Amino acid sequence: MKKKVLFIDRDGTLVVEPPVDYQLDSLEKLEFYPKVMRNLWLIRSRLDFEFVMVTNQDGLGTASFPEETFWPAHNLMLKTLAGEGIVFDDICIDRSMPADNAPTRKPRTGMLVKYLDNPDYDLAHSFVIGDRPTDVELAKNLGCRAIFLQEDPSVLSACEGLEAVCALATTDWDKVAEFLIAGERKAVLRRTTHETDIRVSLNLDGHGICHIHTGLGFFDHMLEQIGKHGGIDLDIEADGDWEVDEHHTIEDTALVLGECIYQALGSKRGMERYGYAVTMDDCLCQVCLDFGGRPWLVWDAEFHREKIGEMPTEMFLHFFKSLSDAARMNLNIRAEGQNEHHKIEGIFKAMARALKMAVKRDMYHLELPSSKGVL
Ligand SMILES: [Mg+2]
Repeated sequence: MKKKVLFIDRDGTLVVEPPVDYQLDSLEKLEFYPKVMRNLWLIRSRLDFEFVMVTNQDGLGTASFPEETFWPAHNLMLKTLAGEGIVFDDICIDRSMPADNAPTRKPRTGMLVKYLDNPDYDLAHSFVIGDRPTDVELAKNLGCRAIFLQEDPSVLSACEGLEAVCALATTDWDKVAEFLIAGERKAVLRRTTHETDIRVSLNLDGHGICHIHTGLGFFDHMLEQIGKHGGIDLDIEADGDWEVDEHHTIEDTALVLGECIYQALGSKRGMERYGYAVTMDDCLCQVCLDFGGRPWLVWDAEFHREKIGEMPTEMFLHFFKSLSDAARMNLNIRAEGQNEHHKIEGIFKAMARALKMAVKRDMYHLELPSSKGVL
């Protein structure tokens, strides 16, 4: 079997990067990145990645960064990690300065030639883990993907091709381990009929980033609630038969969204399965759901206006029925209150929170949440 590698940055990834001079040159400055040890151990014990440390240490061995100030902290870091079962198969340290433009300096691959074009290694399924755009660039140059230890991946858009290789952006090592061990939960679907053309892409473990264009402003606003309050990245483009009415667009969007949720859930191992939420304004909205593998809808919400925005209120029930069918989930929705806009917005928000609760995974117990053994 081909070998896979985690190319792991050091400063800002394994250890906290010292502020001001960015130089880890004393024991006092040695501070491990939160949760790094238990998760690297978990990854090491569950998966078969080789661990390769790749780090730029500007001017190491010169007057600006003498060797004797570097090694004590570095060696203590390695010894501490080894004591937790975390050992590196290779350690690559570049000592050049940025202005040298050395071929060995990240994001260049000069220190890693033995992994490039080597049939023993599967770089396409390997990752670089690091906290700077140059780490993501290294991933691109190696032909692998990146785990970017930053909360906001938008800085990557400044450099072409970096967003595409960034598989995950997070500052939480628990999320890194979850991603590597339990797998990503994304789905992309397109459904084209004579009535509609719907494209949906979704990441259940996203940041609530939405790009939604259905041609129906109020519907967009409601779908955004699902993404934003569910922590789900959601892109939806819908073209429908507007010369007829909005019915097919709303229904088919629900079907594709539901199917995307179903596909992204994958094995369902480790997930909570159930979700429940209540929101209040003048309205009390409640959505209970179960990803038990079967569709069902209980709908107890009355609307007296014919439309909200351009959206017919009779389509709300139809939307959730189609969603429940396609995602194979039970939905029990109840709402009461005066303001009809609040009421439906509360339902979508409660839906988002219920989804967020239900898809949450427990990394340490990746069993199927079912006594039957199937979901
Ligand atoms: Mg770094």
